[in-house]
Amino acid sequence: MTDISDILEKAKAEGRNYLLEPEAKEIIVRYGIPITKIKVGGDLDEVLKYAEEIGYPVVLKIVSPDIIHKSDIGGVKINLKNKAEVEKAYKEIISATKRFKPDARIVGVLVQEFVPQGTEIIIGVSKDPQFGPTIMFGLGGIFVEILEDVSFRIVPITKRDAKEMISEIKGYKVLTGARGKEPCDIEAIINALLCVSKLAWEHQEIKELDLNPIEVYSKGLKVVDARIVLEG
Ligand code: ADP
Ligand code: MG
Repeated sequence: MTDISDILEKAKAEGRNYLLEPEAKEIIVRYGIPITKIKVGGDLDEVLKYAEEIGYPVVLKIVSPDIIHKSDIGGVKINLKNKAEVEKAYKEIISATKRFKPDARIVGVLVQEFVPQGTEIIIGVSKDPQFGPTIMFGLGGIFVEILEDVSFRIVPITKRDAKEMISEIKGYKVLTGARGKEPCDIEAIINALLCVSKLAWEHQEIKELDLNPIEVYSKGLKVVDARIVLEG
């Protein structure tokens, strides 16, 4: 069993059942799923230092227990190419957050590498009152939101289940290289599904998990955004 108790206990001690993006990402990294490089800066100087370390272009995101959907309030700025752009984005993110909720608790600003677009997928976990944790797979964007083209299994899943979850969605061809696009790394998706299943099985205190989006490439994948809600 992978130990994530330090992260869960910190949230509990602060009276939160919602994990911040860097916390959720730390958990999934421990379970073996690749993420974008990230660092949380407490002020502008730190954010600029981390942007240099990670390398341009970068993305900035608000880290606040009061902001769940970050881009809805102007809390995400992508593809920042230099120091001046980071400085401007930092100020805009802080003021957008304060405008949305004047007393919002701001933990910091997350700096991450700007990753190239691949094929977007999502993996989720929710709790079924009868069957316990269930895992969901789908393609990102309109495929999930409008077409509801997703597959579900009860956790824990086998490798065979993971393969079926991927191939049974209607949009499967998007992953295998339709219209001259390179095929996606299906093995990497299978691995991510198995890792999430293991996490949800071993830590049933997780009520909801959302990896949305995950960028999948011809080789490998990267989780771009992660959200975890705990029971209680
Ligand atoms: P939200 O809380 O609004 O879901 P996200 O972290 O998902 O915020 O960011 C919103 C969108 O910005 C993502 O769906 C993705 O398209 C883009 N994005 C976020 N982080 C990155 C990144 N590191 N590289 C490239 N694009 C990103
Ligand atoms: Mg998101």
